Parts: sequence; structure tokens; C-alpha cells
Amino acid sequence: MPYEVLTIPCLADNYTFLLHDKTTGVTALIDAPEATPVIEALNAKGWTLDMVLLTHHHWDHVEGLPDLLAHYTPIVVGAAKDADRLPKLDIALNEGDTLEVGSLKGRVIDVSGHTINHIAYAFEGAVFTGDSLFALGCGRVFEGTMDMMHESLQKLAVLPPDTMVYSGHEYTLGNAKFGLTIEPDNAALQVRVKDVERLRAAGIPTVPSLLSLELATNPFLRASDAAAFARIRTEKDNF
Ligand code: ZN
Ligand code: FE
Repeated sequence: MPYEVLTIPCLADNYTFLLHDKTTGVTALIDAPEATPVIEALNAKGWTLDMVLLTHHHWDHVEGLPDLLAHYTPIVVGAAKDADRLPKLDIALNEGDTLEVGSLKGRVIDVSGHTINHIAYAFEGAVFTGDSLFALGCGRVFEGTMDMMHESLQKLAVLPPDTMVYSGHEYTLGNAKFGLTIEPDNAALQVRVKDVERLRAAGIPTVPSLLSLELATNPFLRASDAAAFARIRTEKDNF
């Protein structure tokens, strides 16, 4: 790949990512939960911060931005329709719009559900999903409807299966335990749960994950229709 992605744990269980274009040296951060770990990672790599791509307005995805703006002058990117409750945007985008991170071309996907106007950023081989699609899970439906969230996940499901899914939280162990209650006989899921347990016991992130693995094991992505999705999401809320 002509880029490198660094996964940076932040706050209690958030992830942020540095997407670095090897061709131009341009570096973008996806969401800004916290500044210090990002600044340390940039210094360690000898990179500077050129862009910040926001997925949604929740505090744990934007709170580190003021501190980062004190150190760098990145172009801040987010959803045009959510501009009134996001930090000040330099580039405001809508579904289907493209953006460039150096020589890398990204596309905006509206993945409303967790919040309305939540967006994901799809690049070749990588999608940054925020709190829409998680490893073995999906975000809680706070602002949108179950139908909306189902449709959003299905937009992600049709990306190339070898796409890496960079999601915003380390919720995978809890999701794994829940997933087994929905699909106890899913052999791929059983194997994955063991892997997740091993990784988490060693303190290793389970994010990113391969979309093809999500398609084989993530019950929220595998729900046959919106009604089945709603049933599973409601069960998870009470799990
Ligand atoms: Zn959120
Ligand atoms: Fe979050």
C-alpha cells in the first residue's frame, strides 16, 4: 500500500489513526479523542499533522482537537450537514464526495444511525468507520433509526472484502461474548473469539480488522434484514 496507518489508543477505549501518504508525506488524523498520544506518535515518526478527518460530533472524537490546533495547523474535515455541531470545518463534505490526503483518494459514506450525519471515510484498502461499524459490533443507535443504521452498515458491507476496518473503539471482547449468543454455531466466530481473547489478554488492539472477517462473524453486518438487525441491536443494548 502507498500509505501507512498508525493505530493510537486514546482515553479509556478509543482509537485514533494516523493515515500517512508515503508518496507526499501528507498525514491525516481520523478523529481527535486526545492530543498527547497523537503528538507523541507524530514526533516518533517525524510526521506533522496536515489534516484531521472527523467522523461525528461526540466529545470523545473531537475533544483533543483544540490542543492539536495549538501545535499544528491541519485542515479540519467533516460532514457538511453537521457543521453546526462539529468543530470549525475547513472542508465540509457530503455523501459521495471525494477528498485527497496527499495522493490518496477517499470517499465519504454517510453512515447515520449512531448519530445523524455520522460519516465514514473509504480509501483503497481502508475504511475509517468511527462509531458505525465496530470489530464484531456496531455503534449504539442514539440519534437515527434502526433502519438507518442497518442501511449504513450495508453500505460498508459492499466495500471490497479485503478492506481493513479502522473503527473508533476497543469493544471487541464484549462484542465477541454477545456475538456467540446470536450465532453459537458459527465456526469462524468461535475461532475469532479465541483470537480476540488472546489479543486482549496480551493488551494488543483488535482494531483494525478485515472486512471479510466481519462479514463472516459480525452478527450486526450479517443480519438478514432491517428487522433482524433491530432485534439484535436491541438485545445488545440489554446484554
Ligand atoms: Zn460516538
Ligand atoms: Fe465514541
